[in-house]
This record gives sequence, C-alpha cells and structure tokens, in this order.
Amino acid sequence: MLNSTLPIYFDPRKYASHEMTLEGQIPLNKFKALCSALASDIGDVVVHLSFKVDDGRYIATGSLKVQVQILCQRCMQPAPYDLAIDLAIGFVYDEEHAKSLPDDYDPVIMTDGEVVLAHMVEEELILALPVVAYHDESGCNPVALKYASSTDEAADDEQKPNPFSILAQLKAK
Ligand SMILES: [Zn+2]
Repeated sequence: MLNSTLPIYFDPRKYASHEMTLEGQIPLNKFKALCSALASDIGDVVVHLSFKVDDGRYIATGSLKVQVQILCQRCMQPAPYDLAIDLAIGFVYDEEHAKSLPDDYDPVIMTDGEVVLAHMVEEELILALPVVAYHDESGCNPVALKYASSTDEAADDEQKPNPFSILAQLKAK
C-alpha cells in the first residue's frame, strides 16, 4: 500500500497508542533544503514507519528510501546515490525530555503534540547525505572527465610549482 496518502501532520501519541503504520511516498521536490544539495529534485522518498508505545515512550521504527542524484566530484556530472535510512525515533516534548531517551532512539520534538512529517523526513535525509559523492569506478562520464582533469592539470602546471620538486631542490642545497 505504498500509494496511500501520508498526513502532513501526525500525532505520534495517537499513532503509537493504536500501533499504526505510516506508509507512502513524498516527492523529493517537496524538500527545498535537501534539493539545494542535490543535482536533481526528481524522485520519491518511500516512507515506512511503525508506531508503538515502549516503556511509556512513543516510538516509531522504520525506514526511508530514495535514490538521489549528487554531483560527482571527479567528473562534475550527476551520480546516483541510494539513501536507505533505518529509523528509530522517540517522540519527546522538549530538549529536557529528549535527554531521558535511550541512545538507541533519535529524539524528535513534538510541537503542540504533533509532528510535521515532511520536516522530520527532510532532517533525517539531510543528515544521511554523503559529504562528497563519486561515480563508481569507471562510471564517470568520459567526456566530462577528460575536460575536468585536463583543465585541472593545465591550471596546476601553469600556476603552482610541484611541491615535491621544491622539496627536492631544498634537499639538494
Ligand atoms: Zn563521475
């Protein structure tokens, strides 16, 4: 049932008390901050969350899955990257309450007893983004790669002396 409609807001206490499940997809282009770090906003985030009350706490476990496009730092072309995040969330009332949560759970603060689903999902996705991304070995765009590396080398040759040749000169003196 991946096409069921996801709520914009949800009350974790209600979901946990009834042991409900949230399943559905959110288009990537709903996440403006996330998309500013991506090479494309095309795709859907598959959300799966199961709620329960555990030891008096409101808990959700599940996953987020989406393939995003990130600029490859070798050829500067979009490279696919699979984000697959396992979630274990504890819903809390405030920062102080969050401190009482076991380490196994990421705290998410409820505002007026509710959580904005998209905000929560976007935060988790941004935290899981890699700092830099590359294509797999030999997956780079050959034309773009040739251009990127040849301009790099030219700039290096013309502007910067090779640090190793400077060391060699120092040693020779
Ligand atoms: Zn590449």
